[in-house]
Amino acid sequence: MIDLESIGKTQYRKGIPASPGIVIGRAFILDTERPHVAAECILPERVDEEVERFQAAVDDVKSELLRLQNSLEEELGKEHARIFEAHLMMLEDSMVLDGTIRRVREDRLSAPLALTETIGSVTAAMERTDDEYLRDRVYDIKDIERRLLIRLLGRESDTLRHLSDDVIVVARELAPTHTASMHKERVTGFATEAGGRTSHAAIMARSLEIPAVVGLGRMTDLIDQGESIIVDGTLGIVAYKYDQSILDYYLDRKKKYEEFERSLLKLKDYPAVTRDGRKFELAANIEIPDEVDSAISHGAEAIGLFRTEYLFIARDNPPTEDEQYEAYRHVVEAMAPSSVVIRTLDVGGDKFGPRGASPREENPFLGWRGIRYSLSKPDVFMRQLRAILRASVHGSVRIMFPMISSLHEVRDAKQVLEASRQELRTSGTDFREDVEIGVMIETPAAATIADMIADEVDFMSIGSNDLVQYSLAVDRGNDRVAYLYDEYHPAVLRLLEQTVRSAKKRRKWVGLCGEMAGNPLSVLLLIGLGLDELSTSPLMLPEVKSIVRSTSYNSARKTLQKALNMKTGSEVRRYLEGIFRKRYPEISATELIG
Ligand code: PEP
Ligand code: MG
Repeated sequence: MIDLESIGKTQYRKGIPASPGIVIGRAFILDTERPHVAAECILPERVDEEVERFQAAVDDVKSELLRLQNSLEEELGKEHARIFEAHLMMLEDSMVLDGTIRRVREDRLSAPLALTETIGSVTAAMERTDDEYLRDRVYDIKDIERRLLIRLLGRESDTLRHLSDDVIVVARELAPTHTASMHKERVTGFATEAGGRTSHAAIMARSLEIPAVVGLGRMTDLIDQGESIIVDGTLGIVAYKYDQSILDYYLDRKKKYEEFERSLLKLKDYPAVTRDGRKFELAANIEIPDEVDSAISHGAEAIGLFRTEYLFIARDNPPTEDEQYEAYRHVVEAMAPSSVVIRTLDVGGDKFGPRGASPREENPFLGWRGIRYSLSKPDVFMRQLRAILRASVHGSVRIMFPMISSLHEVRDAKQVLEASRQELRTSGTDFREDVEIGVMIETPAAATIADMIADEVDFMSIGSNDLVQYSLAVDRGNDRVAYLYDEYHPAVLRLLEQTVRSAKKRRKWVGLCGEMAGNPLSVLLLIGLGLDELSTSPLMLPEVKSIVRSTSYNSARKTLQKALNMKTGSEVRRYLEGIFRKRYPEISATELIG
């Protein structure tokens, strides 16, 4: 393992390893870009709402700056933290605030347009003065403007779409709207200040098979646009202003890592069977239809989770039924005859929907999310269900509902599904009547009543990302509390065990499609649980398979029993790490478990 303290002039930051691999390349700092503002007027009846939206954005940016100020103060002291005082004052400035609100009310400009116009006239005057101090403040005001615009527009400018060189994207955080409009071939890595292992940036990086480190705390202000950096997504390190010795070290490690990956890929066509003959289905999680190719090339036997949110984001209206049908059909045909679990829209929480679909909520993770959203929008829901049903004739489709917390929701969703079937029957459209229905078990409520839910569905898939978040009351994307996000917490292990036991008692198929399924350490436990399927990012499949193939189900059961008797998550982790190092020295040697 590299000794970070001995790397001379090289500077580095440690974050959360989010997607394995090493990349050396030029940084593209996303946060310096100002979003494009369209010339847009609003209707008189929308004026109050627009003013409120602006005020909410001001509040958000204020809290963001206070957070940054606090962390800077902790790290570097009060002097440095003062740089934000000017910013914060600007957010109190009546010229900017009242000026913007007046333009919305009197000229009926959209809030973003009113803001840029107001700031434009304020800064023009400041730039003309001889006062150096005032001229310097222009930069601060523009920064505030950019932050407010990002809040108001919910996205960055389109620069990620038009990249002409390979880059590593460095940002405060990456929202689905960024990645949706990104020129994917040009982006070779991510480094973000916010986020945890299951934040959008992390999941997306694994899907794109690029290294990523998230939760870095600070980064964008430490490097220059275009500066060469090293992202070590395996250990969670970003090195910058590095010297030759560190470059040599990383070039060597990169070579070894890639050799290791190639050796695992040789297992691609072998089944995932334990040494004592228990078979697991290894499936892939995908977020965009094209990823099905990566799933196949990494040996996926099925698609265990097709997240459909990405068809809906970064657009003004939800996709049409035909557009959705084409996307689903593409995946279903590519996988046939293997099955594809298509999850209905899971907007809300950390996932955005069509613009304006999810209003600002105080507690988005506990709010209008997943099945709750779909049930309250029957037109959007039925359009999606019809598209999925139509795609079912091209292979093997299973439908899965997210964020279930009660039987009512399961029953209501099934009713809407039946109504969608009826519409297709009436119009004489082809679909398969035998499409299986399942739900995600990702709230403690659903896990606790998994036996009752099992009676209503054909299958269940555990969403451990959310199950951990909700059972431990830890926001999965908040780096401040990332240390509490613990998949080995006894409460989580009990919920997992209880869910699988309930499903098995009812003879129902049960899988797990959260990030746990791709974590080599957790796999030791998951084998022992006796799940039918493990579904994870395509990238992790070869490694998971190598662990399944070299473990016996019997010994994994014992491992699980022992873990279930432990009192803390850290005890379980240490125990699993011990087994891992002994049993899989070749994997530990590549520092895959850090
Ligand atoms: C989960 O919650 O574990 C899951 C697989 O769904 P998502 O990450 O999309 O919320
Ligand atoms: Mg989830």
